Amino acid sequence: MQRPFHSGPSSPEEFQKQLQEFMKQNFSGKAAPFLRPETGGTPPEAPKADAEPIEFFFDKKPRDVKAHLDRFVIKQEEAKKVLSVALCDHYHHVRLAIDGKDQPNYAKQNIILVGPTGVGKTYLIRCAADLIGVPFVKADATKFSETGYVGGDVEDLVRELVRLSDGDVERAQYGIIYIDEIDKIAAAANGHGRDVSGRGVQTNLLKLMEDTEVPVRAQQDIAGQIQAMMDFSQRGKKGPNTINTKHILFIVSGAFAGLQKIVQKRLREATIGFAATGVKAVAAESALDQVQTRDFVEFGFEPEFIGRLPVRVVCQSLAIDDLFQILATSEGSIIRQYEQTFAAYGIEVLFREDGLRGIAELAVEEQTGARGLMTICERIFRDFKFELPSTNVRRFVVTREMVNDPAGELGKLLAEHKKEERIVARQLVYEFASRFYDEHKLKINFTEDAADLLVSQSLDRSIPVRDLCAQKFRDFQFGLKLIAQNTGQQEFTIEKNSVETPDRILSEWVIASYRNPAKVS
Ligand code: ADP
Repeated sequence: MQRPFHSGPSSPEEFQKQLQEFMKQNFSGKAAPFLRPETGGTPPEAPKADAEPIEFFFDKKPRDVKAHLDRFVIKQEEAKKVLSVALCDHYHHVRLAIDGKDQPNYAKQNIILVGPTGVGKTYLIRCAADLIGVPFVKADATKFSETGYVGGDVEDLVRELVRLSDGDVERAQYGIIYIDEIDKIAAAANGHGRDVSGRGVQTNLLKLMEDTEVPVRAQQDIAGQIQAMMDFSQRGKKGPNTINTKHILFIVSGAFAGLQKIVQKRLREATIGFAATGVKAVAAESALDQVQTRDFVEFGFEPEFIGRLPVRVVCQSLAIDDLFQILATSEGSIIRQYEQTFAAYGIEVLFREDGLRGIAELAVEEQTGARGLMTICERIFRDFKFELPSTNVRRFVVTREMVNDPAGELGKLLAEHKKEERIVARQLVYEFASRFYDEHKLKINFTEDAADLLVSQSLDRSIPVRDLCAQKFRDFQFGLKLIAQNTGQQEFTIEKNSVETPDRILSEWVIASYRNPAKVS
């Protein structure tokens, strides 16, 4: 998602690279869809920067948004509800503002998402942005420095929205900026004092969250400057130079380790006076539901910064059953990815319920939320992905046994497959004999050993059984006919030695039939 931030070219090569990027951006039409649900999601033509502002479509109700999120995101019921309401509030307000019916004192519904890693925080926002049809940028708070020189400049996030909107500043102004690891730019006041650089970044972000104009092109952005010149020379008119952040929705998230304790402490202190009346201490899991601005301040945030983030959403950690549900029912389940990967080789995978449970049980031990599912699946399927495409295995079932012992089960699958292959190959040997009889009215009987040897040779040399038999016994129709004429023999037994040296054995038989018109084999 993130793109390297623009900076001045440090060498001619760098300049060339930036120029190439500019050419790519300019001449490879790739408009991101701006969905208008009423028209079945047909993306309208992206307006040029100097065209009339596009009409912003949003008529969803919180239940619609939640229903969409439910399709992808498992659990997080409360978060989905709060988020659906906040998003609807925000985008209805945006629509009113566009229609010129702005409420002057409207406080933007910027959001803080609290929750451990891998529980669906980003996924929630990404799915919501898809539904609404607005660009979405994700960044990591730790990448920013106060001055913007070391890491990136927070304003680059806004410019990234413009890039994702294919230069459409209007559309970018309704986008969503998501900043993860926000807890890393707050240092607890109750320890080592505040992190000065973190405070600087908070101040910079605070400016963005308010009503600010951000230059569409960073000063050091050579490609952007050239583009502006080209636009000007082509149209004789300049596009907007700045993007306004008033309607950009800001969402920040983090694990906020230690915040729970701060809330619990505050609640405990508040209940001391009520101790006699039996008010119970709040359980650790539910403490975060009662988080307040002052807890975030205690955690190390500037009150003004937290004040700009009025919506608080808490995401819960995921238990085994949640992980199982993610695999089994989420529309974004990674098992689809595996089904597709194997399908590309013509292999069907069936995930059995006990297999999915097994994966969920292992994933929970990783302690990385739903990300653990991917880690575990990669571990399980790595060798399957490598081995199976080169075999004739056409389907396999993911069971608990397989999840617990992938190498063993893969070995069994390959051995089983070999066994099946041998059974089929042996039938093909007998079929050869039967066709020989149909064509030549002479019966040949393969001994077990002979059939086995043919099967082994066919598999080892990757020659189809029919072709191998046709090659080996090419002259038998003539030889055996001769013998039949000499001796009257109609039935012949093919032993292992006839498979090893068919021509020699056949000529021995023929010679013998002349010498001794009794049976030759
Ligand atoms: P984080 O909470 O760290 O932002 P993500 O949202 O990036 O985690 O989750 C990583 C991936 O795990 C997602 O892309 C999604 O596939 C899956 N995932 C995480 N949580 C859920 C959930 N609650 N329901 C369904 N899938 C989830």
